[in-house]
Amino acid sequence: MDEAAPHALAIAFLNAEGAFDDPVAAARWWAAARESAPHLFLSEPGSPKPRFDAGLAAEMRALHGAARAAAAADAPQSAAAALGAGLSRGSLRLAGTPLSLMFSASDGPGAVLFPLALSVATLLAAGKRLRRCAAQTCAAYFWDATKNGSRRWCRLSCMERARAPRRRLQR
Ligand SMILES: [Zn+2]
Repeated sequence: MDEAAPHALAIAFLNAEGAFDDPVAAARWWAAARESAPHLFLSEPGSPKPRFDAGLAAEMRALHGAARAAAAADAPQSAAAALGAGLSRGSLRLAGTPLSLMFSASDGPGAVLFPLALSVATLLAAGKRLRRCAAQTCAAYFWDATKNGSRRWCRLSCMERARAPRRRLQR
């Protein structure tokens, strides 16, 4: 997760293909995500905690699929509905001094699904700078933070691979 943008978590989730195949992998992904964006995971005291089992991993997989479908140009209505269902797994409140945004999950799995759904919904609502990597062999999304919105590849290696054949032709 090297994107310092506010949407880093949502982008990482969109790109986390295969990260939720089993509960151990899902728990590991979640721990790393929390570390990278601690401000997004302030839960109210007493809010339920997640237990990583096959059920939660399956719910994360489904939400991941819905997030990718919702990010596509022709997003199906069902994807938005699935994300909306994730949003209903918790609620937000302003609390503390200084004030911060805290969430309360409706149940253990909600402690994972709610913040993920919220970050993806925020990303999709912010819209315009979400891009798909131009490399044919890459399915990654990224946030284009360049001034003129001209970034085309998710990472340097994708750009280099795309440009290498052209450079050889010029020689
Ligand atoms: Zn790429």
